[in-house]
Amino acid sequence: MSQPYDLAIRASSVFTEGRWRPATIAVRGGVVAAIADHDEEVPAHTVVTLPEGQVLVPGIVDSHVHVNEPGRTEWEGFTTATRAAAAGGVTTIVDMPLNSIPPTTTVEALHLKRAAAAPQASVDVGFWGGAIPSSLGALEPLWAAGVFGFKAFLSPSGVDEFPHLSTAQLRSALTEIAGFGGLLIVHAEDPEVLDRSGNHGGADYGAFVASRPELAEEDAIAHVIDGVRATGARAHILHLSSARALGAIRAAKAEGLPITVETCPHYLSFSAEHIPDGATQFKCCPPIRDEANRDLLWEALLDGTIDLIASDHSPSTAELKFAGDGDFQEAWGGISGLQLSFPAVWTAARERGIPLERVLGWMAVNTAALLGLDEVKGAIAVGADADLVAFSPDESFAVHAEELEHKNAVSAYDGRTLRGVVETTWLAGEVVYLRGEADGERMPRGRLLERRSTP
Ligand SMILES: [Zn+2]
Repeated sequence: MSQPYDLAIRASSVFTEGRWRPATIAVRGGVVAAIADHDEEVPAHTVVTLPEGQVLVPGIVDSHVHVNEPGRTEWEGFTTATRAAAAGGVTTIVDMPLNSIPPTTTVEALHLKRAAAAPQASVDVGFWGGAIPSSLGALEPLWAAGVFGFKAFLSPSGVDEFPHLSTAQLRSALTEIAGFGGLLIVHAEDPEVLDRSGNHGGADYGAFVASRPELAEEDAIAHVIDGVRATGARAHILHLSSARALGAIRAAKAEGLPITVETCPHYLSFSAEHIPDGATQFKCCPPIRDEANRDLLWEALLDGTIDLIASDHSPSTAELKFAGDGDFQEAWGGISGLQLSFPAVWTAARERGIPLERVLGWMAVNTAALLGLDEVKGAIAVGADADLVAFSPDESFAVHAEELEHKNAVSAYDGRTLRGVVETTWLAGEVVYLRGEADGERMPRGRLLERRSTP
């Protein structure tokens, strides 16, 4: 007689091994230990049967989150960010090397980040390192210390302590990273194009978009592609907003270059035509473009040109987000989307007739693969972490910014109705979020993640 499992979750629809099926998921020691038939007797200390209408899916893996602690903890911190994640069905986040102070560009800074995150994390947390001019030549120790790769900007980042790389420095970074089989993740906007485009400020959303034209992304991505071809390094294009860059990316992928691409929920949910002037809660860089562009981003997801969707949760204080009273030049550029990214993408996908499993592919399977975590994250499979979400895909809810868990109550989604409600989130088989339960009731159970191997 085998020992009872810690937990068994029975559901009439579970997404596992690439398909939906009725099943019972048995968990032991934080890991999925068995996948049984729905009606099979599974001895367990706790048995949960999901009601009709709820499906069981893997926890979302968000590879692009700015937590900002230490140093700018008033913008966002690990307690609030990881609670927002848990409430949004996100069980893994990977923190960007800026806008914390210090930025994660040294091993010492990584240790500070880890020390800050460890006691507060409600979900699992990993870290990106940063490639800035002063860290070039010294990236390998950070890689050895467990970062998942290195972020670089090709244009000003918005904070002084994280300067961008020139085209020549980009090439150096790629050469260095190729030497140890690492990964460069790139904010790809070309500074010369941005300079030429001018930014005269003001509340006009169209003028803001014109100040960050598609050509800036196209030119910067061309530099990345050239660098990958020359060095053999792996590179990942962050937050693609311009569909005009898709042709070059398709060609690079067809050539077999090791390039992956991400876009974000806000580019898939909003379009310039519907953003009011002065509504700086929608400001991000690169910007949200027009409806035709949005359609092309969806097409590129469907045909695999864009690999994945990550939130680019990048908050600031409300004061900075609304600095300048609607002036797009003055306001902080970043959207706080961590808690809503899964329902937001699902809402937009559903309207297009795209099934939930494709969304899971982009937000769990492929993000885990980018991180080299695909054996333990992103899918419900025997041996993987029991990071699970009970989700009601047909239910809807209204977004109220002040009810969200992240620190500053600003949201581009405020007032919208989204489809898909996160009911329960389990991390390693333990409940870390239960719909309707008061905040702060649960122990922070998140663990710190290190890169496992070279994907
Ligand atoms: Zn970002």
